[in-house]
Amino acid sequence: MQLPRKVIIGDRILNNTLEFIKESTLKNEKIALITGINVKKTINKSIEDNFLENNIKYQWIIAGDASFQSVQNIEKELQNEKIEIIVGIGGGRCIDIGKMAANNLKKPFISIPTSASHDGISSPFVSLRGGHKPYSIKVETPIGIIADLNTISNAPCKLIASGCGDLIAKITAIKDWELARDDINEYFGEYAANLSYLSAKMVLDISKNIKKNNKMDKQITRTIVEGLISSGVAAGIAGSSRPCSGSEHLFSHALEYITNGKSGLHGERVGIGTIIMAKLHKSNWNEIKNALEILGAPTKAKEINADKDEIIQAFYLAGKIRPERYTILNKIDLHKNQINDLIEEVGIA
Ligand code: ZN
Repeated sequence: MQLPRKVIIGDRILNNTLEFIKESTLKNEKIALITGINVKKTINKSIEDNFLENNIKYQWIIAGDASFQSVQNIEKELQNEKIEIIVGIGGGRCIDIGKMAANNLKKPFISIPTSASHDGISSPFVSLRGGHKPYSIKVETPIGIIADLNTISNAPCKLIASGCGDLIAKITAIKDWELARDDINEYFGEYAANLSYLSAKMVLDISKNIKKNNKMDKQITRTIVEGLISSGVAAGIAGSSRPCSGSEHLFSHALEYITNGKSGLHGERVGIGTIIMAKLHKSNWNEIKNALEILGAPTKAKEINADKDEIIQAFYLAGKIRPERYTILNKIDLHKNQINDLIEEVGIA
């Protein structure tokens, strides 16, 4: 099992938790801070003051797009520097690029998410464009996660809704994993599966409470952040992405590939994929769809700038992009008009 060494979650904790970074630097070499331009503008003063006070050397790196090319650029920039730790600060892009670069340079990685849009904030997986395979690849687990609830709560609502999509996906991911256990005798980790399922269940419960009280408060944000971290931890326990990612993720990766990354956020696509795959699994897809709607996550193709044809193509491709991953898509063989009917029936396009 590969697990993070420290997880710190709290309100306005960025300043004092930088101590963890100091604790982790034994050789007093530089820390590479990978972030986006806007995030840097809002946090650089507090981080720089804190680092200067603690006598920590650092180097800012502005992340490019979510591609392997950006990772290579960072590796080039850092190859002649004495770097001890790489820290990714930002949304999915900076975390994924930083995690991949740290893995390739064999440096520890600390994740500081500024939004809760997917479970990559803690998992040993990254999803980037321009690789050989259009799905997540395995890397080293982050050694630490520092999640400041104040920052995460202030991020746009669609980001946390996307995080809910990535969590609700665990329902079909676990169904697919059970199928692989039953049909092809694949290893199934009961504990990892339950841990991952718990976070999906909590999202369903949250959607019911929000309906009553009509707001997403800091306590709910905290639960979602903890859910995303623990589902990443479930992947670390299982040693594979199985507890977190099934046919709904294959659909999302396929749709991202077909639309060249222009069809919404990871968790938004995954949420839509979960509705479709839940229907195939004969699960309660309506409950999932309702929950996503209440949480403000998209449930229709047009909400993520995709059309019906792209959804059908993505469904078709999803069963082919990763042959070794056994899912419900291996059990069914739908013709184009049947896929069309399925997409219409669940109201996606
Ligand atoms: Zn995901």
